[in-house]
Amino acid sequence: MLFFSFRFFPFFHFHPFFFLLSLFLYFLPAYLARNKPDFTSILLLNLLAGWTFIGWIIALIWALTAKPQAPASYVATSAPQPAAAGSFFCTACGKTCAAGARFCSSCGAALPVTQR
Ligand SMILES: [Zn+2]
Repeated sequence: MLFFSFRFFPFFHFHPFFFLLSLFLYFLPAYLARNKPDFTSILLLNLLAGWTFIGWIIALIWALTAKPQAPASYVATSAPQPAAAGSFFCTACGKTCAAGARFCSSCGAALPVTQR
């Protein structure tokens, strides 16, 4: 089948499969960086300088070394959030603790039960 189609696509890049494969390889750096915060920059470099071999290599290295985006749970806990009603600040570390908690969720210090 493959051999058969080569007769109709003498230049293998014109074959849809190889065209898509080349396209995928070309945008591999951007694909690898799809979840990274630097995705837009890497995509632009990939798009504009990818046709130069060195630009493609730089985009690939950048995509591989870029720090992955912090997971949503980490962002949620580290972002400053308004203290919920009944919550209080830990006397040991100063972080907000849930109302009724016996131990600080951040440092583990025992909390005075009266402070709620
Ligand atoms: Zn604490």
